[in-house]
Amino acid sequence: MKAEIITIGDELLIGQVVDTNSAFIGQELNKIGVSVYQITSIQDDKQHILEALSEAEKRVDIVIITGGLGPTKDDITKQTFCEYFNDELVENKEILAHIERLFKTTLKKPLLESNILQAKVPSKAEILHNTYGTAPGMYMKKRQKVFASLPGVPFEMKALLKDKVIPRIISEFRTPFIKHKTIITEGLGESTVAERLVHFENELPKHIKLAYLPNLNVLRLRLSGTSFNERELNIDLETLSNQLISLLEDIVIGFDDDTPELLVTNLLLEKKQTISLAESCTGGLIASTITKIPGVSAIFKGSMVTYQTPTKSYVLGVDENIIKEHSVVSTQVAKDMALKVQSNFKSDYSIATTGNAGPSKGDSDAEVGTVFIAVASPNGVVVSEFNFGNNRYKVMHKAKNKALEMLRK
Ligand code: ATP
Ligand code: MG
Repeated sequence: MKAEIITIGDELLIGQVVDTNSAFIGQELNKIGVSVYQITSIQDDKQHILEALSEAEKRVDIVIITGGLGPTKDDITKQTFCEYFNDELVENKEILAHIERLFKTTLKKPLLESNILQAKVPSKAEILHNTYGTAPGMYMKKRQKVFASLPGVPFEMKALLKDKVIPRIISEFRTPFIKHKTIITEGLGESTVAERLVHFENELPKHIKLAYLPNLNVLRLRLSGTSFNERELNIDLETLSNQLISLLEDIVIGFDDDTPELLVTNLLLEKKQTISLAESCTGGLIASTITKIPGVSAIFKGSMVTYQTPTKSYVLGVDENIIKEHSVVSTQVAKDMALKVQSNFKSDYSIATTGNAGPSKGDSDAEVGTVFIAVASPNGVVVSEFNFGNNRYKVMHKAKNKALEMLRK
C-alpha cells in the first residue's frame, strides 16, 4: 500500500514554517504498513493543487493533504477539492452549529461571514469533525483510492489523522504490521560497528532490515520488520535485537527513545544523587537538554554558564593563578570548574566544559574543536581532552554527548 503526502502553504516554500506535518503523517502511516512514496509541498495555488492531486492519484492508493482549509482568501483547498472531484459545496448544519458554539463559548468572538463559509463542504466527501478548530477534514473515495484533506494546524491535523483517517485506512485496506526496535550505542564509529555485524546482517531474514543512524557520537541501530503476523514479528524482532545486544554489549547504552540526557537522569534518579554543571563552550546546552526531561528537578541542582574567562573566577571561584599558568582551555581549569561547581551547589556529581567551539581560532590559545571535559564524583575528578572538529554546532553537541557519556562511566 502506497501513500503520498501533499502539504499546501506558501509559508512552507519560503521556509517560514517547517513542514512537520509530513514527518508526523509519515510515521503514522508507516506504523500501519503504508509506505510513503512521495512528499510534496506546494503553494496555495489552484493549478498546483489540481496537478499535485492528479499526479498523486496515478502513483499511489492513499493521498493525504494538509493546509489551506482556513477561512481566509488564500485558503483554497476545499474549492479545489470540489473542482477535482466534480463536486459542489453544500452547507453542513452540524458543522455550522459546531462553529457557532466554538465562537460563543471558547473563542468568545463574533462570528464572521468567512467563518460561516467554513461550514460549507463538498457534498460527496465524508466529513471529519474537527473538535479543536473550525475547519473540518474531508475524506473522499474515488474508485479504489482514498483522499483525505486535513487542516494545516499541526495539533488539529494530528487529532484528525489519528482518530479519523488512520482507522478508516485500516478498515479500507488490509495492511501489514511494521515494527521497529532501536538499539543505541556510543563510542564506536558506524563502519567499525558494521564490520562487527557483517555476519549478523547477512543472516537477517528478508522481512527484517537493519539501518545505521549515526548522530554526534551516538549511533542508533534500527531493526525494522514488516509482516501480516504481528505476534511472529514481535518474536523475530525480540530475538534479533537480543542477538544484536550481545554482539555490541560493550557499546550499548540504551533503546528506542532513550537519549544521553535521559540515561543520565535515570541513572541519578536510581542512585538518588544530584548533579550540577559549569559550562563554558557548551553555553548551557547540557542544562537545556537535561531540563527538557520532566521530573529532573529531583537530581539537577543547577548550572552556571561561565563563558568569559574572568567570570570563571569571579562567579565560579576558579583560581586565577591556574588560568594564568595553564590557559583557560586546559585540564586544570576544567578540573577546578568541576570541583568549584560541585562544592558551590553541594551536588554529588558535576560536569564542566571548557574549549574552543570555533569556527575560527580567534584569540584563544586552543585549537578549534579542542574541548576539556571534567566530571567530578564523590570519588574524585576525571578530565579528558577531545577535538570535535571545526563545526561549532557539532563541537557543542558532541561535547554535550561525551560529557554525559563520561558521567555514566
Ligand atoms: P487555518 O484555519 O489556521 O487557516 P488551514 O487549514 O488553512 O488552517 P494553513 O493556513 O495552511 O491551515 O496553516 C495554518 C498554520 O498551521 C500555518 O500558519 C502553520 O503555522 C501551520 N502549518 C501549516 N502547514 C504545516 C505543515 N505542513 N507543517 C507544520 N505546520 C504547518
Ligand atoms: Mg490558513
